Amino acid sequence: MLHYKVAIIGAGPAGYFAAQALHNLQNEERVFAIDMIEQLPTPWGLVRSGVAPDHPKMKTVSKVFEKIAADPNFRLFANVEIGTEITVAALVEKYDAVVVATGSTLGKKLGIPGEDLYGSMSAADFAPWYNAHPDFADVKVPFDCDTAVVIGAGNVAMDVVRMLALDPSELDPTDTADHAITAFKNSAVRKVYLSARRGAEHAAFTSPELRELPKLQHTNVIIERSDIEAAIVRAGQTPGKDVKSNLDAMLLIAKNPKIDNDRTMEFLFQHTPKEILGADRVEGVVYSTPNGDVRIKCGLVITAIGYQAASINGVPYENGKVVNVDGRVHAGMYVVGWAKRGPTGVIGTNKSDSAAVVELLVADLKPPKNAGDISQLITSQQVVDQSGWLRIDAAEVAAGEAKGKPRVKSIKRAELLKKAGI
Ligand SMILES: Cc1cc2nc3c(=O)[nH]c(=O)nc-3n(C[C@H](O)[C@H](O)[C@H](O)COP(=O)(O)OP(=O)(O)OC[C@H]3O[C@@H](n4cnc5c(N)ncnc54)[C@H](O)[C@@H]3O)c2cc1C
Repeated sequence: MLHYKVAIIGAGPAGYFAAQALHNLQNEERVFAIDMIEQLPTPWGLVRSGVAPDHPKMKTVSKVFEKIAADPNFRLFANVEIGTEITVAALVEKYDAVVVATGSTLGKKLGIPGEDLYGSMSAADFAPWYNAHPDFADVKVPFDCDTAVVIGAGNVAMDVVRMLALDPSELDPTDTADHAITAFKNSAVRKVYLSARRGAEHAAFTSPELRELPKLQHTNVIIERSDIEAAIVRAGQTPGKDVKSNLDAMLLIAKNPKIDNDRTMEFLFQHTPKEILGADRVEGVVYSTPNGDVRIKCGLVITAIGYQAASINGVPYENGKVVNVDGRVHAGMYVVGWAKRGPTGVIGTNKSDSAAVVELLVADLKPPKNAGDISQLITSQQVVDQSGWLRIDAAEVAAGEAKGKPRVKSIKRAELLKKAGI
């Protein structure tokens, strides 16, 4: 029997699905001991810190992750950062294979004047702020304006618009960070624009997200009917299934505008941002449109135009992704998930993607190294293992039960470590 050791860096969906795929490829000849290493005291990656809190069903995929983590050959080392505390090279030396599953966390920039003004920020900072990510608790979001603009035409942009435009009381039964619920309740924002550079036929939303918009109880949703009718013409006789489904959903909204709420979200297509205006904070956005320049007054701009991977020493990067061929960085090092593909696909996409990469990994295996593991590299006394995480989880869920929420998340690292029993 061959005993292999695999280190997975990053406890997001791609990392868990890689662990699951390894587990499934065990047989009477080989077993895999899996060590998953996570920089935060908590696992689950963007399922905890990205997915919108008003979509609790989406977060139930965490049950699958916990089933994977319950395997006796699986160990969690959370609150351990790779690249700083422990080098990738040290892991490569010890493990038979290292899988980089660190995601894609940096928001892409528009590259236009005014982007660095106070009040202009990326969804890469805003979403973790409302999701209680410990490193984003101090993000300042100016809510003292009546209008906000979200730039982007994908599901992250849609999440951000919804979070800004829904009635904050709808967040009470969710696990939104307490500081964010308070800020949303005190917010003066009542009008939120979502602006897309291209026509509606190119929008990267998925149609279930569009179809749920009319169900928002306290928010008007405005889409200009002529924009969608023109997009339908441009899409031609045989649009792709997803495009057709999106356009159908948008046409339905456009035909039935709600107007009687004091909160409104409005979609603007073919609006290319040229400049963010303001002296010492955001005061507006100038767009180039087919009808000439348009200026929208606003005090908050959030860009959701894609993500790039943050680089880790010892791993090669290019164009915001880890350099790889089909997930192989080199024999012994692999990459999965958003760090591999960039920010595309849904959570489930990571499952088949990780499984395919793990097949390569297994095909490359040589006899086991038996060179030790991460426990010989760790010097910190503050490592959260699976049982520590389960203590955090139980404490958060118990705090939530009292308030009718799935959980109340602890925000500060010190608080999380205390709950872990450290
Ligand atoms: C705002 C937002 C909302 C989304 N909503 C949905 C949705 O509703 N439905 C859906 O299907 N998909 C959604 N997605 C997409 C989904 O979250 C991704 O497909 C998925 O999380 C990618 O998984 P990953 O494991 O590659 O990365 P991640 O989930 O980002 O996980 C990476 C993990 O690696 C850790 N890490 C990073 N660097 C290090 C390091 N140096 N050392 C140790 N650990 C490290 C991170 O802390 C993180 O836990 C959303 C994405 C975003 C950004």
